[in-house]
Amino acid sequence: MQLKDKVVVVTGGASGIGAAMARRFAQEGARAVVVADRDGAAAQAVAKEFDGLGLHCDVTREPDLLHLIETTQHRFGAIDLFCSNAGVSIAGGPELPDAAWRQVWNVNLMAHVHAARALLPAMLARGQGYLLQTASAAGLLSQFDAPYAVSKHAAVAFAEWLAITYGSRGIKVSCLCPAGVDTPLLRAEPAQHQRLLSEGMVSAETVAEAVVKGLSAERFLILPQPWIGEQLRRKVEDPDRWLRGMGRWHDSIRPT
Ligand code: NAD
Repeated sequence: MQLKDKVVVVTGGASGIGAAMARRFAQEGARAVVVADRDGAAAQAVAKEFDGLGLHCDVTREPDLLHLIETTQHRFGAIDLFCSNAGVSIAGGPELPDAAWRQVWNVNLMAHVHAARALLPAMLARGQGYLLQTASAAGLLSQFDAPYAVSKHAAVAFAEWLAITYGSRGIKVSCLCPAGVDTPLLRAEPAQHQRLLSEGMVSAETVAEAVVKGLSAERFLILPQPWIGEQLRRKVEDPDRWLRGMGRWHDSIRPT
């Protein structure tokens, strides 16, 4: 997909990777870029930079997503590319209360499900449409916070399922899986995670560049850091060896 003249929506577009993608899509000549975020004022501020539309949308609320999609279609016509990008993390594992697991699950997975539910009927009727879902390297390699890694695995699986099920009916799907990216989400991580992530960390603009290239090639997995693909190969080739290595790495960053 080339972005020129396309109608694009980016959720979580007020900050970090979403804002960088929205700016980059506008530079590529998209006809309309709609920036959606639970922080509506910040979404409007980003959209104002390139004459786009900024809207408040809490992606955990299905009516908000429906409103976002209907408003975009009413103003600009059919949506060519929907980037389901909003995401959150809470540090911890099984000791976290259910409410924390549910919060992460609702943003990192269910928002993708609700967006697909709302978008697919019109996209299937047109025989075309592109869904970009931001997951994470944690959705392939299970590192860091448990609710985050688990929900991102689910997001990858859902993206795969969509590609398998609707690929022959004109629906394109890409799954964005970056490792460390210099954004407020990463900066909120515990210090030992940040130290480690900062080694291979890239900017949100670098991720946006990888997305434009990945969309152009219509590639399913978009990996802004190539070592993620190498780790994934090692995991598939020898899961036990890979788990031992990941365990040693995890122990090395455990706070003393
Ligand atoms: P960020 O915190 O800079 O941006 C996330 C945006 O999502 C914020 O503007 C926030 O207001 C918005 N948001 C959060 N919950 C929302 C909700 N319920 N409804 C609507 N908007 C909501 O973080 P980022 O790093 O740019 O993250 C973007 C995506 O990239 C996330 O899905 C994240 O998991 C993923 N990701 C980030 C990294 C990283 O290292 N930063 C790595 C891999 C994947």
